[in-house]
Amino acid sequence: MSPDVAIREIRQSIGRSVFSRTSVQYIDSKSILTRASGFLSRYDFTLNPYSGCGFGCEYCYARFFAPSAKQRESWGQWVSAKRNARELMAKACRSGALKTGDAIYMSSVTDPYQPVEQRLGLTRAILEAMLECGVQPRLTIQTRSPIVTRDIDLLRRFDKVRVNFSIPTDSEDVRLRYEPHAPSIAVRLKAAAKVADAGVRIGISITPMLPIRDIEAFGIRLAGLNADGYSTQYLKPERSSFGAGSTSEVLKKAQEDAWGIREYSRARESLARVLGEGRKLYEGASGYAPIR
Ligand code: SF4
Repeated sequence: MSPDVAIREIRQSIGRSVFSRTSVQYIDSKSILTRASGFLSRYDFTLNPYSGCGFGCEYCYARFFAPSAKQRESWGQWVSAKRNARELMAKACRSGALKTGDAIYMSSVTDPYQPVEQRLGLTRAILEAMLECGVQPRLTIQTRSPIVTRDIDLLRRFDKVRVNFSIPTDSEDVRLRYEPHAPSIAVRLKAAAKVADAGVRIGISITPMLPIRDIEAFGIRLAGLNADGYSTQYLKPERSSFGAGSTSEVLKKAQEDAWGIREYSRARESLARVLGEGRKLYEGASGYAPIR
């Protein structure tokens, strides 16, 4: 998929609203790598080219880590771009702060392939800087965006990389209800297939699992992607152990949709049956383990 096709597919699937509603601020960051902790403690570093995210999913836990209450409230409408990301990455590689084999999770508080990446290319620049320095981290990329297909040429040059696609439902109606500014489910499935067909390992994150319309058909479709692993998780409570949780609005929507922990558990059981014993189905943090 060419970059133009990727961006056209995002525009077609989510409309133009996300492009006009998100303001971009440029910052010179002090560092690009953050020591991983908590939920992601099996990684050495998290890597965020941006803070804020134009996709603005309603259930997003990253909003709780925004610097101010105003930014938490306007989540999805602002992005801070680390314009010196390439230089910082090159410096981290040259200084030995990042070494071959280190496990990186990209990204913990943003989507590295959100729409603004098409224009700014910071995520691509970071990947280029790693490759130019000859450092080969164990890289996990978490995204719901087809823009990742633009970088397949670079991803294929990493020894250990996995792209985890966030696909929390099979239903466009549900997707529009919980993440109206994100790419359509069809576009994500197509992007995941494209990345996998290019020989790059993928994972499927059905997290948080949202109401599923046809778990059998969804499971068969996901199984066909031959991912390294599949992971599920129910919506977090309002206050979870890692300090972020679901908003009361999202939990209310789930209640209106009759989507509780029991419905989730039943869907997960059905998914396990459809995926079969040969495919790995994880739950919670185990679904976010670094690539080996
Ligand atoms: S794409 Fe990820 S980081 Fe962005 S708003 Fe959605 S859940 Fe949050």
